[in-house]
Amino acid sequence: MDVLAPFRIAFEGLKPGKHDFEMRVDAEFFDSFPLSELSSVDAICCVELDKIGTTLDCVVKLSGHCDLPCDRCLGPIQLPLAFQERLVVKLGEVTDFESDVWTLGSDVHELDLSQAVFEWCHLALPNRRIHAADAECDEEVTDHIGWQDENQPSGSSEGENDDIDPRWNALKDLK
Ligand SMILES: [Zn+2]
Repeated sequence: MDVLAPFRIAFEGLKPGKHDFEMRVDAEFFDSFPLSELSSVDAICCVELDKIGTTLDCVVKLSGHCDLPCDRCLGPIQLPLAFQERLVVKLGEVTDFESDVWTLGSDVHELDLSQAVFEWCHLALPNRRIHAADAECDEEVTDHIGWQDENQPSGSSEGENDDIDPRWNALKDLK
């Protein structure tokens, strides 16, 4: 089965107005691409496509979670994976995927969202991937690699800067 088939929307047969599509984004989806940082993913992608004349106005929402190695102990850590993106596509003469507004030439009969969803998933990943509590980390690994916890008081006054409200750190992770 072609797991990317649901991501190719045959727009020509669509009536003007809104249409909803739902696709599963999982390990098989990411296996379809040669280079992926993600492999263990379970998410649902919803596309609301509004066909207005020769414009396809798409809102793409993804919600789910993924497993990535912890930066500290390399053990698996489950992180939320979510994004909402808007993609405007014009039906024209010459195909162009480079601009913010895509153009599909007259020889293109499907709107393929798979590559865009793949890239948005990677952009949505948090930069800091670390178990919330030290105790959750695999001690054998952290001992072996001699991990120094940056939040441990180092004896200098610099440590005070680490005393940031944890809610602020959570917000930074949302970027
Ligand atoms: Zn860890």
